[in-house]
Amino acid sequence: MITGRQRALRSWLSIGLLAVLCCILAVLQYRWIGETSRAERDRLREALQASLVRLSRDFNSEISAACAALLPSASEIDRLGRERAYATRYTEWKDSHRHEQIFRRVALAAPEDRSLVLRILDPDKGVFVHAPWPARWSRMRERLAALRQGAPPEAPPSEETELIDLPRFTRMGPPVPFGLPVAEWLILEVDLDYLRSTLFPELLGRHLGGVKSDYQAAITVRTNPSIIIYQSDSNQKQSIGSSADAYVAFFDPRFDMILRRAAFGRGPGPGRPPAAPPPDSGRGRWLLSVRHRSGSLETIVERARQRNLAVSAGILLLILAAAAALVRFTRQAHRLAQLQMDFVAGVSHELRTPLTVIRTAAYNLRGKLAANPTQVERYGALIQEESEKLTAIVEQVLRFTGAQAGRVLQERGPLSVEAVVDSALLASKGLLEGSRCVVEKRIPPGLPSILGDSMALEHALQNLINNALKYGAKGGNWIGIFATTVPEQNGPTVEIRIADRGPGIPADEQEHIFEPFFRGKRAIQDQIHGTGLGLNLVKRIVEAHGGTIAVRSEPMKGSEFVVRIPAAPAGNQSEFVPAHGRTDGDDDSLNREAAREKGLT
Ligand code: ADP
Repeated sequence: MITGRQRALRSWLSIGLLAVLCCILAVLQYRWIGETSRAERDRLREALQASLVRLSRDFNSEISAACAALLPSASEIDRLGRERAYATRYTEWKDSHRHEQIFRRVALAAPEDRSLVLRILDPDKGVFVHAPWPARWSRMRERLAALRQGAPPEAPPSEETELIDLPRFTRMGPPVPFGLPVAEWLILEVDLDYLRSTLFPELLGRHLGGVKSDYQAAITVRTNPSIIIYQSDSNQKQSIGSSADAYVAFFDPRFDMILRRAAFGRGPGPGRPPAAPPPDSGRGRWLLSVRHRSGSLETIVERARQRNLAVSAGILLLILAAAAALVRFTRQAHRLAQLQMDFVAGVSHELRTPLTVIRTAAYNLRGKLAANPTQVERYGALIQEESEKLTAIVEQVLRFTGAQAGRVLQERGPLSVEAVVDSALLASKGLLEGSRCVVEKRIPPGLPSILGDSMALEHALQNLINNALKYGAKGGNWIGIFATTVPEQNGPTVEIRIADRGPGIPADEQEHIFEPFFRGKRAIQDQIHGTGLGLNLVKRIVEAHGGTIAVRSEPMKGSEFVVRIPAAPAGNQSEFVPAHGRTDGDDDSLNREAAREKGLT
């Protein structure tokens, strides 16, 4: 058979096993969440990079398509003349294109004699007008002049990245070291204001979810990051720079592509070659850097990881707590079941002894002893004594079931504490006489009355006195009953103490003695009569009066039960109900009534 200790050991072992499993699960989960987070971060980064590449491709296509559309073919130039051919192309492009404001200025730079003559397009009239070189274009002028002299082509300087120069080559003229001689350059100045206000927000919206998206974007000149072309957040103080989550180089007007496009006409169409090869994300005049608004992708992934870890830890803790609670409740249920079994066994045992005595006495009385009046008297007293014990047990059980059903108290009235104590002592008279115990009663005169049920309180005090006699009399053959007034926050309270000088209550039992069915080890070992219901009933009765009960006990020195009940309100202090005030509805008196009816008393 499994003992309580073995059961407890098993429960704790299973909890320990569960804790170990939870720890293993926690470690695995920690690793998995870490791996998932890293994968998620890489996935987000790749998706972001892919979006930037698409954005760069769209922008480059936009510029290349525009450039290609603005370059007339050799036959058009032959037919219309150079300036008209360019102007016609511009007008056609402008009428058909959505982003016609993409270029701020369109110009032609043609070598004439020793100099480069500049003609800027008047967009309203559709004609090129001779104009001086703008100051901002001076570096370009030098660059084009050098190219004309045969210098190698070089990238535009960082201050002029918005300028595009598209040469048209001719087979005529003096040969130059790098390529064919140039007939003229088409110069296009990209309108940065238009890009900032329209094209960039549109492209960012298409590829990153809008300017108000999760990302901040900045465009800088690639060779000189201090030149900022665009910022998605106007109040963006810190440059994205090295903290970018992804970046791409773009704005790469590639002449080969443009010229190829120009050769096939304006823009892609059915049967034409693909519009643009994927851009080289390492090439381009500008650099687009993007960073997540919360700091970086790393930060949001880390936050998500911590959230996941917290949720997982919470779930594991919940599992552990649920298991611990389950074990605790199961143990409690086992304990209660055991206590109830003990109770049934205890009550049966309690009933058996007086019943055996009564049966034997009755048997003897029917026999030859019936003629001896002294013996009849002795047996009669014995039967009465044992019947009273039976009645007390039955009454205890009935009171307990009544209390379980919420019927702890009946009628309440103002009571004298001394009268209640005296009634309780009277009720325990038989036991007191048998034990030859000294009772020291100290109740000062003028103690305030209490408002209560006299029968219930008498029963409670009788229980405490009987316990002191049962468990404590062996020690000092002394019982102390003291009462006093204690001032408390809610008004005066009457304190009743019932003490003995017995062996005391072990510390580990003190917290259980008020539980129903509980019996101390010593009570069981020494076979002291009892049901384990007494103190539980006392506690319920005292608490139903708004009072408290506590125990003080030291091994081998004795025990003291301290009952505190609030004094009756001032208006009820003068009138008292006698301690045995009620004569009807009381089980004991009913029993006496029944006995009288049978002619036994
Ligand atoms: P019962 O007396 O029927 O066992 P109680 O509820 O009155 O049940 O008491 C519960 C337990 O408390 C007792 O079994 C006993 O171990 C302990 N106890 C109660 N009063 C005293 C006392 N005065 N001295 C020592 N032990 C006590």
